[in-house]
Amino acid sequence: MATPPKRAPRIMHVSTKTWVTRNMIRVTCHADWIKTLDAGIEGAHFKLFIPKPDQTDAAFVTELENGPRPDVRTYTIRYIRPDLGEIDIDFVDHGDAGPASAWARRCVSGDLAGFAGPGPIKLKEFYADAYIVAADMSALPVAAATLEAMPRDAKGVAFLEITTPEDQQNVAAPKGVDVHWLIHSDPHQQVTQSVDLIAALPEFTGPVQTCIAGESSMIKALREEIINRRGVPKSDAYISGYWKIGLVEDEHQAAKRAEAV
Ligand SMILES: Cc1cc2nc3c(=O)[nH]c(=O)nc-3n(C[C@H](O)[C@H](O)[C@H](O)COP(=O)(O)OP(=O)(O)OC[C@H]3O[C@@H](n4cnc5c(N)ncnc54)[C@H](O)[C@@H]3O)c2cc1C
Repeated sequence: MATPPKRAPRIMHVSTKTWVTRNMIRVTCHADWIKTLDAGIEGAHFKLFIPKPDQTDAAFVTELENGPRPDVRTYTIRYIRPDLGEIDIDFVDHGDAGPASAWARRCVSGDLAGFAGPGPIKLKEFYADAYIVAADMSALPVAAATLEAMPRDAKGVAFLEITTPEDQQNVAAPKGVDVHWLIHSDPHQQVTQSVDLIAALPEFTGPVQTCIAGESSMIKALREEIINRRGVPKSDAYISGYWKIGLVEDEHQAAKRAEAV
C-alpha cells in the first residue's frame, strides 16, 4: 500500500505573549483548525516549526510546504480552548541560543508558526495508589497539566525544579499530592535533588504511576530508580528526557534514538 503523503505542518498565528513567571513565556496562538482538536489534551506534545528572524510570512509558508524544513522543536499544549481556536504554549526563556526560546522572546501578535501533531497525552487513565511527578522548567507544562487532570482524591508527591523562587506557579494539584518547589538556579549544572528525594521515599506498597520529565541526566537516574530498582512497570511510568545540557534538540533526539536501540 502506498504511504500517504505527509501533511504539511499547519499554520497558527500568535495572539498574545506574557511572562507567566520570571523565566517562563506564555505564547497564545490561534487558528481555525485548533477548533477541530479535542478539549482536555493539555500535556500533549507537538512539533513547533519556527520562522527565522526577519523571514517573510510567504517565505516561511513556502518552506513549510516545500522545504527545506524550518527549525523544529518539541513543545507541550499547556492549555487548549477549542471553542476559541486557541492554545497556550509555555516556553522556558533560556536566552537566544536556541531558535525556539529566541522566537518566544521576539514573537509579537500576528506572527506565524507551524504546528504538527498533537501527540498523545501522557497519563490517559489514573488508577494508582500514589503518583510521583518530577519536572524541571521544560516539563512544568506537562507536570502541571497532569496534576490538574488527576482525580481530586489522588495522593502522591511532586518535585518541581524552578530557576528562581519567582518561577513558582499556581498549579491546581490534588490536596493529597505534596508539591515541593525546588530551586535549581543554573539549569546547565547537573543537580541530583529530585533524584535524591525520590530515592529517599518509602518503598511503594501499591500501584504507582509517574509523570517525570526534564533534563536528560536527571531522567536517566530516575528511570534507573523507578523502573529498575523499584520495579514500576514501564507502562505506568512516563519518564522522558526533554533536553540535554550542551545539545540542541535534534542532537538530543538522535542520542535518545541511539540509546533506545
Ligand atoms: C515531549 C517534549 C515536550 C516539551 N515541552 C516543552 C515545553 O512545553 N516548554 C519548554 O520550554 N520546553 C519543552 N520541551 C523541551 C524543548 O523541546 C527543549 O528545551 C528544546 O531544546 C528547546 O529548543 P531551543 O530551540 O530553545 O534550544 P536548542 O536549539 O534545542 O538548544 C540550544 C541550547 O540551549 C540549551 N537548552 C535547551 N533547552 C533548555 C532549557 N529548557 N533550559 C536551559 N537550556 C536549554 C541546549 O542544551 C543547547 O545548549 C519539551 C521537550 C519534549 C521532548
